Amino acid sequence: MTPVLIVLNAGSSSLKFQVFDMLDGAAPRLVWKGLYEGLGGSAHFLVKDTSGSVLDEMTWGSDDRFGHEQALMHLVSWLRQHQEGRELAAIGHRVVHGGEAFTRPVLVDEAVIQSLEALVPLAPLHQPHNLEPIRIVRRRLPGMPQVACFDTAFHQTQSEIASLFALPREMRERGVRRYGFHGLSYDYISSVLKDYDPRLAGGRVVVAHLGNGASLCALKDGVSIATTMGFSALDGLPMGTRCGAVDAGVVFFMLREMKLSPEEAERVLYTKSGLLGVSGISNDMRVLRSKAATNADAKRAIDLFVYRITREIGSLVAALGGLDGLVFTAGIGENDVATRAEVIAGLAWAGLTLDEAANRAGDPRISSGSGSTAWVIPTNEELVIARQTRSVLGGAQTKLAI
Ligand code: AMP
Repeated sequence: MTPVLIVLNAGSSSLKFQVFDMLDGAAPRLVWKGLYEGLGGSAHFLVKDTSGSVLDEMTWGSDDRFGHEQALMHLVSWLRQHQEGRELAAIGHRVVHGGEAFTRPVLVDEAVIQSLEALVPLAPLHQPHNLEPIRIVRRRLPGMPQVACFDTAFHQTQSEIASLFALPREMRERGVRRYGFHGLSYDYISSVLKDYDPRLAGGRVVVAHLGNGASLCALKDGVSIATTMGFSALDGLPMGTRCGAVDAGVVFFMLREMKLSPEEAERVLYTKSGLLGVSGISNDMRVLRSKAATNADAKRAIDLFVYRITREIGSLVAALGGLDGLVFTAGIGENDVATRAEVIAGLAWAGLTLDEAANRAGDPRISSGSGSTAWVIPTNEELVIARQTRSVLGGAQTKLAI
């Protein structure tokens, strides 16, 4: 029997999954990927093979009360029907916040779950959804090894100075510090830099993870030395619906003058800001690009996004002491030709020159000339979770029939 592991990435109404074969001595090999969306309402299931062909699809009505638990049990039974000589060995989870305690992936037990629950206030919109499937698996598949893999852990290489806020010491002692996020994505990019250009693996690189969530990471010799996200996933760049860095005074204005409750202010900053808030149209870059030529609000939102990225890259180049390479990744970074061109146009001072044809063609290298180089590298957070899960289990694949 070939042991397989499921990688789960749970959101408020979605459950994305990938299934990997874990053959001895070989890298985890993707077999199936898919998702459940609309959970709690009119849920939809879709699974594809590695060529992208849809293997199966299903929809449930809003009366079916099909939530995360039903989705997980449906996935396990779908696997059982399609396993063809495979058996489920473990489940790896994406967990956004590991706090100070979890600087590496960890095998889940009750104490770990308690510690992760204590971090909910640090990532209120993500952490509860990440923890839900962990609890469901513990209840419904007792004994199934589960590994939690953290978006924060990759940044634990940062210096104390890079991680400090200029706040009173007692706040630092309560865990108020910069953590950084998107670490699974940066871990993947760091692991493949050598395949694109060996000089990058040992050089000074800024990675721009530009998706619905967005951040930048400065890599020196492949490890994180600085990043734009801080204590929560709100800091740094403007995002699809999140504000990015704002003056803390704005929050007091919202509470005192606008009379918003903390929960209302939080909702504004997490879900009504960013590209959506500035444009008043959409958080989706494709929609904004399609309107930008004729709609000043769409154009303003994009211009602010690009301006902030370019400025923040300048800050990370200072932290790195120079720039050897810039990498674009995630939904916008991998697909939006115009964002890449506009960011690079603002970085001529850092030695970057756009290769327009390569950028339009979606080539991996999109810069020309002998200065710093620019790249497009698709991220693969799920593969990192699969690798980390296997390394935590130490190759001793605990097999469990499903
Ligand atoms: P992610 O969170 O990584 O899935 O990225 C989501 C973001 O990527 C959204 O803003 C999408 O509009 C954007 N995106 C995806 N595909 C494209 C595309 N072909 N062109 C421009 N933006 C895209």
